[in-house]
Amino acid sequence: MSTATPTAARPSRKSPPSKAPKSAIVIGAGPGGLAAAMLLANAGVNVRVIERLPNVGGRCSAIREQGYRFDLGPTFFLYPRVLERLYKMLGRDLHREVPMVRLDPQYRVRFGDTGGELLCSPNIDTMAAEVAKLNPEDGKNVARFIAENRVKLERFRPSLESPFLSWRDLISWDLIKLLPLLRPWKSVDGELSRYFQDPRTRLAFSFQAKYLGMSPFNCPSLFTILSYLEYDFGVWHPIGGCNAISEGMARTATEVGANFHLGESVTEVLFEGKKAVGVKTDHGETYMADAVVINADFAQTMKKLVPNRLRKRWTDEKLAGKRYSCSTFMMYLGIEGRYDNVHHHTIYTSNDYIGNLADIETNHRLSDDPSFYVQNPGVTDDTLAPKGHSTLYVLSPVCNQQTNLDWKSLAPAYRDKLFQSLKKIGIDDVEKRVRYEKIVTPDDWENNYEVYRGATFNLAHNLGQMLHLRPRNRFEDLGNVYLVGGGTHPGSGLPVIYESARITTRLLLQDFGLDAAWLGVPGAKDETSPATANS
Ligand SMILES: Cc1cc2nc3c(=O)[nH]c(=O)nc-3n(C[C@H](O)[C@H](O)[C@H](O)COP(=O)(O)OP(=O)(O)OC[C@H]3O[C@@H](n4cnc5c(N)ncnc54)[C@H](O)[C@@H]3O)c2cc1C
Repeated sequence: MSTATPTAARPSRKSPPSKAPKSAIVIGAGPGGLAAAMLLANAGVNVRVIERLPNVGGRCSAIREQGYRFDLGPTFFLYPRVLERLYKMLGRDLHREVPMVRLDPQYRVRFGDTGGELLCSPNIDTMAAEVAKLNPEDGKNVARFIAENRVKLERFRPSLESPFLSWRDLISWDLIKLLPLLRPWKSVDGELSRYFQDPRTRLAFSFQAKYLGMSPFNCPSLFTILSYLEYDFGVWHPIGGCNAISEGMARTATEVGANFHLGESVTEVLFEGKKAVGVKTDHGETYMADAVVINADFAQTMKKLVPNRLRKRWTDEKLAGKRYSCSTFMMYLGIEGRYDNVHHHTIYTSNDYIGNLADIETNHRLSDDPSFYVQNPGVTDDTLAPKGHSTLYVLSPVCNQQTNLDWKSLAPAYRDKLFQSLKKIGIDDVEKRVRYEKIVTPDDWENNYEVYRGATFNLAHNLGQMLHLRPRNRFEDLGNVYLVGGGTHPGSGLPVIYESARITTRLLLQDFGLDAAWLGVPGAKDETSPATANS
């Protein structure tokens, strides 16, 4: 499959081309790997993407069974401007490649059995009125929260778009000037109390810390920008699900020249000294390349594919001592019939929300009344199930792999508990309507999807594991090795994962002596303002 790349977007070479084009192997076709493959191939690099699963997308891929189509992982497509911009660099339009719908209400948050609910709308007046139902004073502060976080994102954006290659980048004057705005000494919840007195409203503006796999009570306050992004830039549903974005990116990467090897596992990264020179795969193949870009889960890849003796900062022992995100217990249900009374996204928070977070983060046990999230995408998108049927996606945050939790024996009872809990959000009679069911436990995330400790959102995003303290885009322990995806800077979550690919590609092209100017400058003014993104 090949089409001409729009000439306007073709980068020019900085130095005369060497005899052979430069080559890169990308390990993994998750969102970060796909974005890197698109950009590198567009720059004329010879790109080979090796993916162990038979389909692309990694944690953002599709489950297709019996006529049903589910997202395996991401269901909230946020801040599309990052990927829009990458598509624009290739002379393409993301929304033409994958149509998507902006949701209003964005989601419903149900607070335990008796705590009421919030229907969260991106219309600020509607949202303020909704918040005021819980506390009239809080309603007045919604617009202030949005306005102040808009400034916070704009001021922090250059840091999110730049590599952090040493501590010197951290103490750059610009970042120091940001400290009063970022308030690193506060948590997300602490920061929200400057605006909202009602803990339920704080919860509706802070459960997004879960995207990072963290509790809002210890997630750094910077991350209030996550909920802000939803209001200014939207919660989107790509038709077909977020997996359709991954599939579209693989099509685009192929069209600009990347080669995909699906169903082939890298078993070893090959080194000359500390420099990567290629990989070996389970097909008995050896592929050589000028650079190796790792998109597969960072900690798992280090442990399994790179000899421990070659690493200094990220040895197996040091990896074991790091903090990891929570995991998730998943149910994907193909349903006969539809639940038209249930919103596209519903978040149910435990009656004992704080206790549930403590069970996940410190007690390492399963809660009696767990928080959970349900996606009922059939109310927006009728491409996901046969006529007269629909799909339900159920996610419950749980602790990452712990030796005291044996999921083989725990899973059936936890499944039953969640089936019972679905009644709390208006989903009745579900058991007798299920025609397809798949369960994924932390154990499965680790063993079937190669995610270290089943920590679905990678290394945690505490201050000690962010910016220059996260594994770096140009990987510091090895030569010719680069990282993309949720395990590197800026972090987990689709928009920043796509951004990691831009950062990494820029570094790699510079190291190859190729033109990287077409990838833009970190923090450059965006053409789209929140106002136009809203329309
Ligand atoms: C349940 C869940 C819900 C989420 N919800 C959201 C959401 O709503 N919104 C959001 O923005 N983010 C969400 N995320 C977080 C994040 O966006 C996704 O996890 C994202 O897919 C991570 O992308 P990645 O680029 O890091 O790579 P991954 O998706 O982890 O892909 C890595 C790829 O590497 C492959 N691989 C591994 N080992 C090898 C090997 N040896 N050889 C070859 N290939 C290999 C894997 O098979 C995989 O395809 C969610 C994550 C999960 C798990």
